Amino acid sequence: MSAARPGTPGATRQCPHCRETILESAGVCPACRHYLRFDASSEAAAEPAITPLRIEGGIRHPEDGEPWEYTVVVTIRNDRGVEIARKLIGVGAMNPNEQCTFTLSVEAVTAKGKRPVKGGTRH
Ligand SMILES: [Zn+2]
Repeated sequence: MSAARPGTPGATRQCPHCRETILESAGVCPACRHYLRFDASSEAAAEPAITPLRIEGGIRHPEDGEPWEYTVVVTIRNDRGVEIARKLIGVGAMNPNEQCTFTLSVEAVTAKGKRPVKGGTRH
């Protein structure tokens, strides 16, 4: 998986606080929520994000039975069905009658002034 070139939509960088791979245009790290150095030339950072996808759901362990161990995995596939990212988000355990809520959200901003790289990853 090769990252997009700097200055193009989808270009990434590493958060200096948590080392997570984030969008180059991000003004706030979505992982650790630290503010990042603001690049004055990047107006995209000031664009309000939209959330075209948000899914939230909870599961409750039945009152009876042994504890559960759970694994949360998120995958991203492109329009050709090719998996471009797969990430283990977290693992944990649930005791009887315990509830956990899981939320998946996809935020999007307009990549203003950036050239699209459609087909750039095709080889
Ligand atoms: Zn961070």
